[in-house]
Amino acid sequence: MLSKEQIQSIRQDFPYLSKEWDRDIVYLDSAATTQKPRQVLEAVEGYYKFENANPHRGAHYLGQKATEVYEDGRQVVADFIGAKANEVVFTNNTTQSINTLAYVLGLNTLKEGDEIVITILEHHSNLIPWQFVAEKTKAKLKYIYIDKETKALKEEDLENQITEKTKILAMTQSSNTTGTLVDVKKMIKKAREKSKDIKTIIDGAQYIPHHKLNVKDLDCDFYAFSGHKMLAPMGIGVLYGKEEALNNLPPFFYGGEMIEYVYEDRATFLKAPMRFEAGTQNVGGVKGLTEAIKYLDSIGMEEIAAYEESLTQYAYDKVKDLDFLDLYTTREDKKGSVITFNLKEIHPHDVASILDTYGLAIRSGHHCTQPLHRYLGLNASCRASFAFYNTQEEVDRFIAHLDDVRRMMGLGSK
Ligand code: PMP
Repeated sequence: MLSKEQIQSIRQDFPYLSKEWDRDIVYLDSAATTQKPRQVLEAVEGYYKFENANPHRGAHYLGQKATEVYEDGRQVVADFIGAKANEVVFTNNTTQSINTLAYVLGLNTLKEGDEIVITILEHHSNLIPWQFVAEKTKAKLKYIYIDKETKALKEEDLENQITEKTKILAMTQSSNTTGTLVDVKKMIKKAREKSKDIKTIIDGAQYIPHHKLNVKDLDCDFYAFSGHKMLAPMGIGVLYGKEEALNNLPPFFYGGEMIEYVYEDRATFLKAPMRFEAGTQNVGGVKGLTEAIKYLDSIGMEEIAAYEESLTQYAYDKVKDLDFLDLYTTREDKKGSVITFNLKEIHPHDVASILDTYGLAIRSGHHCTQPLHRYLGLNASCRASFAFYNTQEEVDRFIAHLDDVRRMMGLGSK
């Protein structure tokens, strides 16, 4: 397990958390986006200073350099998730990865009578695209719900919702709101037993920053994630797809660099991944993501997972008996690195604003999961989310200031 000294040394890599910045901030909003270590920032700066050119085009030195940065990055991502390089498509973020599938898979292959199954845990970016596909194709959108106590997916829904008509199963591996970890491997297996031509899509935005992942072990058809939630810059994301599954799909965006031959009236297209990467790509972002993965690998994903698990448990043990809190995260099973709650009768934005005056950054609102909030009888909630650069001292400050909010708002306590 990562020691206190190791964490302190890691924190010095993050300008935001180090003494370099004289604001004393406790950042508990890493599920929204992580802070960036200087290794990533320097790599991006280095790329734009000394390696910048348009990749896959110029025969000149810099053109080759930029192509190398881009394609080496693809290999690093592939190794990180247990895929082959040609199964890694660069996108802007999870949202673009899922929208790509909604358009090229959903709109092209579904018809009336088909079913799309998602879960009530989904972030809007893995929900609204499927509402759109259902509306356009007249396919039916069905949900797997959660047990309101444990926040785990309901066993009976797992059994009943997926049928031989289900053509797409799209689900999160880790909820950004309840922290529920979904056994997607089990679900994918079960789904294939029920429907032989089902395509499985995993939203890994909240899973991959915290756990070791192997897409081949999951055996999903597609997997989506965002760089900015795993130390990389904003604007770079990934769509993994099995080689055959990707190559069976038509392109999404059309334009430069995704073509083989172009005639006046028609064109032929490259295979994946290039077929899904029209136009000039975010090479600086790929450089940042490459460095972010190297940074995570240098610590070790298993180490990160174990440390965050114990830190989140530490926080959970402190909040669970506070009688002025309603908790929407449980830890009966292993859960993600979030704790979601409300202070009774106090609006989450008020809680977050007061905590902000103490230098504490938490998230308040619906966290882009309105259907989930509605299902739980809520409009909004507060969320503290943890990363491996957070400490027990920060958790203690968070708890102490929660009590300050309680006192300030005149709420009683035990
Ligand atoms: N899915 C989940 C589970 C998320 O938490 C998020 C971001 N909050 C997204 C998808 C969307 O990610 P992005 O905004 O980077 O596309």
